[in-house]
Amino acid sequence: MCLQNFGLHFGTGQRSAALARKGFELSQHTNQIAAFISHDWRTSRFSKTVALLIAFNSIYAALAALLLNMVMCGLLWLDRLPGGWPTASASTYCVFYLVLFFWQRIRRCFCCKSILVFLDRLCIAQHDEDLKRRGILGLAAFLGKSQRLIILWSPRYFSRLWCTFEIASWLKDEEVKPVEFVPVSMAMLLWSVALLEVFIWWIFQFYVYIETDNVTLGFQGAIGVIATVLTFLLPAFLVAIPAQFYFGILHMREVLKLKQQTTSFSIREADCSCCAMNHINPVTGETILCDRALVFQTLRRWYTRTGDPDTCLDRFDALVREQLSVSVLQTLGSGAPTLRYVLAMLCAAPLAQLPQYLSMGLRESRGRGMGKWLLDWCKFPALALFMFGVAFSAWRKGALWSRAPLCVAIPTLQCLVVFCAAAFWIPYEAVKLSTGDGQFFEAIPLACMWIILVLLYIRLYPSCIFRNLK
Ligand SMILES: [Zn+2]
Repeated sequence: MCLQNFGLHFGTGQRSAALARKGFELSQHTNQIAAFISHDWRTSRFSKTVALLIAFNSIYAALAALLLNMVMCGLLWLDRLPGGWPTASASTYCVFYLVLFFWQRIRRCFCCKSILVFLDRLCIAQHDEDLKRRGILGLAAFLGKSQRLIILWSPRYFSRLWCTFEIASWLKDEEVKPVEFVPVSMAMLLWSVALLEVFIWWIFQFYVYIETDNVTLGFQGAIGVIATVLTFLLPAFLVAIPAQFYFGILHMREVLKLKQQTTSFSIREADCSCCAMNHINPVTGETILCDRALVFQTLRRWYTRTGDPDTCLDRFDALVREQLSVSVLQTLGSGAPTLRYVLAMLCAAPLAQLPQYLSMGLRESRGRGMGKWLLDWCKFPALALFMFGVAFSAWRKGALWSRAPLCVAIPTLQCLVVFCAAAFWIPYEAVKLSTGDGQFFEAIPLACMWIILVLLYIRLYPSCIFRNLK
């Protein structure tokens, strides 16, 4: 429900009492909460929704696309697919994005049960001061019933009183439960990389389609195709990719600040919207209670040992600085998004290429047999993952070059990434073109591509890979 209308309930503005009551009515009684969503209200609703779509739906979207793709390839093999490979490719993209956006609804249709999450805005009454107070005092109980905590992290997160309060409730529990750290701007970046990839590869697919399906095209035709492709690709290279680098570098700068943010944390300095508004509701003009007083009172109850009310806040600060900062930095690692989300988000474009390659293999296009076409397809997943890995490393580098202005850092890094991609890909294509039919020498550079890829990801995800091995 919290993903309704593309994050309607994540809106940043103050709401009227009627709207707040309507929101509260969406909440329901339950004994178990799948996830407690902790977020700061000022971060844009769009980026938080994208982060949640990735966290809750992307894996299912990838599985659905994979399943459909396999069925389509089977039909193609049996020559029973109307429309041939374009049908298979288009439906792979469609199913991926349909499931990504609507998985929770689809799920409800099939198993009649949606995932229940805790979202402060809906589950704590905002229209009634007494209900609100009871909700806040019961926050620890809500967290206790939650299976995992999802932190939609933005640079403001640790400076907001409410966010730190939710963390305080989570840390209070002796039992260690999973915390998932989802930096919202990284989710946006991952999504934009996936979209750009779909766009570029769709153009590429179009090009291969014309090239192989229309052999009578001749020299002039080829020039036309290249010109068309460039017309579409140039804006991507001149606008979309520099924009991605810009936001990527800014995001990584924030992630690098996170360590300092958690190690110098102080709840007394945390901001709270009620204080910023001088405790007057800007919509109704009514006086509102100070959340700070309520939060501090609850914290005192949880963290007081000696009875001195001031030390409990210090104790909580120390807990964040020592315990939480270590676990946050561990989960965040290099700052790269969770590996399974990267794999899920980047799988649609390579999968959509498979039916085309299969169909060319079936027709033995250009005298190449099926084995060669399928081997050739193996470069797509490697390229997709490599491009993201390298771009991410470049953003990180850009963030570390704090002295270089962005107008210098972005083009430099972009050239470096293009160079890396060329060095990664061209040897394979060169060997492939010089290898005759029936020979499979290009398998060697292809294997090298995959080895380089694995090494790159081990570097990006050391903790994740080694934790799984243990
Ligand atoms: Zn206040």
